[in-house]
Amino acid sequence: MKTDTIVLGAGIVGTSIALNLAMRGRSVVLVDRRGPGEETSYGNAGLVERASIYPVAFPRRISALADVALGRNPAAHYHWNALPGLVPWLFAYWRASAPARILDYARTIETLLAHSLAEHERLAGASGAGHFFREGGWLKLYRTEAGLENERSEFPLARQYGLSAREIGVDEALAMEPSLRPVFRGAVIWSDPHSVSSPGGVTQAYAAHFAALGGHVRRGDARTLARLGSGWSVTTEEGGVEAPEVVVALGPWAMDVLRPFGLRLPLQVKRGYHMHYHAADGAALSRPVLDEEGGYVITPMVGGIRLTTGVEFARRDAPKTPVQLDRTETLARQLFPLAARAEPEPWMGSRPAFPDMLPVIGAAPGQNGMWLAIGHQHLGFTLGPITGRLLAEMMDGETPCTDPAPFSPHRFG
Ligand SMILES: Cc1cc2nc3c(=O)[nH]c(=O)nc-3n(C[C@H](O)[C@H](O)[C@H](O)COP(=O)(O)OP(=O)(O)OC[C@H]3O[C@@H](n4cnc5c(N)ncnc54)[C@H](O)[C@@H]3O)c2cc1C
Repeated sequence: MKTDTIVLGAGIVGTSIALNLAMRGRSVVLVDRRGPGEETSYGNAGLVERASIYPVAFPRRISALADVALGRNPAAHYHWNALPGLVPWLFAYWRASAPARILDYARTIETLLAHSLAEHERLAGASGAGHFFREGGWLKLYRTEAGLENERSEFPLARQYGLSAREIGVDEALAMEPSLRPVFRGAVIWSDPHSVSSPGGVTQAYAAHFAALGGHVRRGDARTLARLGSGWSVTTEEGGVEAPEVVVALGPWAMDVLRPFGLRLPLQVKRGYHMHYHAADGAALSRPVLDEEGGYVITPMVGGIRLTTGVEFARRDAPKTPVQLDRTETLARQLFPLAARAEPEPWMGSRPAFPDMLPVIGAAPGQNGMWLAIGHQHLGFTLGPITGRLLAEMMDGETPCTDPAPFSPHRFG
């Protein structure tokens, strides 16, 4: 089969790219070894995090680093045997987390975040996925004054970008979410973000609309990607597909395909877990809630209350070690009446991450006709649709809606 473009990876990023290209009239084959939205884009916290101008940075204070090293911070966990291979990456991450560079990061990521809601709305409107979305922002809870103080320090920059963060007392937080218990001393409501009740469902709705526009969704192994003349070929369960252009949007698995073509990019993973619970005693939640010092988010999903954990540094394919889930579940039960676990096994996924915390969106160095859209870390669900628009504009040779230079793979040399 011949097509204009092959898109490898049907997570939120690849699916949004395929849909944008199809909406522009291209013929596209979207290839995944599973169904659309069944991996990382299924298991996240479902926040369209419009206000996330501050990154999840490497701890700079010795005390914060010691908390991670000694296992005192439930938001972080690591495997000793993964650390030696991660040293250069962690060092680059630490450098990128310097206060001055955080301001550069904010300026850069804002160029994408500013489009994040509108691009989801555009795709959701066209795909009939609007029912998954809800307004109401997200609520961050603080158990300590130090935590609150730290959060307040983010307000001035947020205001500079026109974002709304409002400190509220325990009573107002309980009025917003009456099923919470007052185990916290203060809260901040960030009203700009939206959230969804099923990030996998949203991705699948975008894929279904892509198919309705004539796009092809095929099962196949992206590692069969090969050069074919000046173009590309890939093998799927329904036969070979050929195209002059290919987009690699394989999230945490991207390097499995890129390495054989000689591409060396510093992509690592930050693993995370989730579990669903039924709410006990008729309790309910209407928006995502972050327990900052507890190191977890609880959010209402179609499958129940989803608890998502922070970051685990481990080899991508190492067996699950859901210690963070066990620790945070105890804290979450203090905050919200959770009934029994609704699943036998915790879900685990891997946030694909570059050390400067920015995604790569652009042409692959030295590989004519290959495009990359990878490494969206903590913001992949948020940024999938704008990534799709930006890359489609670049591929069509148009003036892009925002400067793609900061996201170029060339920044890694
Ligand atoms: C616990 C947790 C909470 C999160 N919360 C949020 C949040 O609230 N908001 C937010 O914006 N982001 C969040 N994220 C991050 C977000 O989920 C990711 O950044 C995003 O899903 C990455 O999307 P992707 O399309 O790049 O990757 P994926 O969704 O992983 O898609 C990659 C696809 O490639 C396919 N694939 C892999 N190898 C092959 C192969 N050899 N052949 C064919 N196909 C292959 C996979 O099957 C998969 O479908 C969270 C992540 C985690 C882990």
